[in-house]
Amino acid sequence: MQVPLLDLKPQYEQIRGEIQTAIAELCASQQFILGQHVEDLEKKIAAYCQCRFACAVSSGSDALLMALMTENIGPGDEVITSPYTFFATAGAISRVGARPVFVDIQPDTCNLNTDLIEAAITPRTKAIIPVHLYGQMVDMDSVMALAERYQLVVIEDAAQAIGAEYMHRQACSMGHYGCLSFFPSKNLGAFGDAGMILCNDPERAEKLKIYRSHGSSPKYYHQYIGGNFRMDAMQAVVLLVKLKFLDSWTSSRQKNADDYQTLLAKVPNLTLPVTATKNNRHVFNQYVIRILGGRRQAVWDGLKAAGIGCDVYYPVPLHLQQCYASLGYSKGDFPESERAAAETLALPIYPELSHIQKRYVADTLASLCK
Ligand SMILES: *Cc1c(COP(=O)(O)O)cnc(C)c1O
Repeated sequence: MQVPLLDLKPQYEQIRGEIQTAIAELCASQQFILGQHVEDLEKKIAAYCQCRFACAVSSGSDALLMALMTENIGPGDEVITSPYTFFATAGAISRVGARPVFVDIQPDTCNLNTDLIEAAITPRTKAIIPVHLYGQMVDMDSVMALAERYQLVVIEDAAQAIGAEYMHRQACSMGHYGCLSFFPSKNLGAFGDAGMILCNDPERAEKLKIYRSHGSSPKYYHQYIGGNFRMDAMQAVVLLVKLKFLDSWTSSRQKNADDYQTLLAKVPNLTLPVTATKNNRHVFNQYVIRILGGRRQAVWDGLKAAGIGCDVYYPVPLHLQQCYASLGYSKGDFPESERAAAETLALPIYPELSHIQKRYVADTLASLCK
């Protein structure tokens, strides 16, 4: 049996007619950049995330970059984040010329250990980027309390977490900015690159829209040095169709996670993901287990040989990446991130997974982990 890590085709089959009609209409209009569809999408995503304002952009990476740019964060500034995330989180900090300062994760959720943030704050610290890894939110009350005490900007990296909730509050609604990615493999995926920035402050919202088009307002009068961070209308059209299905797809992901939890409960030598508090809505962009006893590579190879797709998010924590050698970190600095990098393994969790496929994954894992 083949069980890919992610298969987008069954999802497309459900909505093919609607998508093709919408794209055909867009082609007839020849309106390709920003425009009415992008504005509609901004309104709908803002409402979905319980935020006042949204700014549609070219990718999740550009969303993070723009949030830092509009806050004038740059050389001499420090930004605190997790070393156990996709590179874009730290890359955005470096691209504006600021310095990423890493804080270790907690072992159960792989999210920032908020107890360790305060010790990393210096007079140069300007912002914190909590990453809601795998679809589960960081302990945001602690982050926001620190941010208030030290006057820091909070930029939520919710690229994996659209629809996630913490104490009944939506991802992107708690920080000063929330950044989403619509990369095709995310829970709400476009037909290419796209992203969005959410915020609740009208001045920030206005500034974001100016930065998105080379800092110009009015046209050809440049207040800031922004960039081309605009979203294609094509992506907006696709996302408007898909957004209607997001909650049902998320429920399927959660059902799959529940099923794995039952099927894998008695398998030795692995740790299953946890939902941190009962008020957390985990949207399972990834279902990530840990393989204990130094056997991850062997188990991964075994799954591959059995036709099961898996991956490691992420194999090298950011403080040990070659491009960050100049930051001066070394092995042992963030032991939980390093242990996670050696133990984690993401299993297939996409909504259309069948029960037979889940059983096959669980049975194969059980025989490999004995
Ligand atoms: C995907 C992702 C991003 C970047 O989003 P793109 O749309 O691919 O640029 C940033 N942060 C995290 C945690 C991600 O998973």
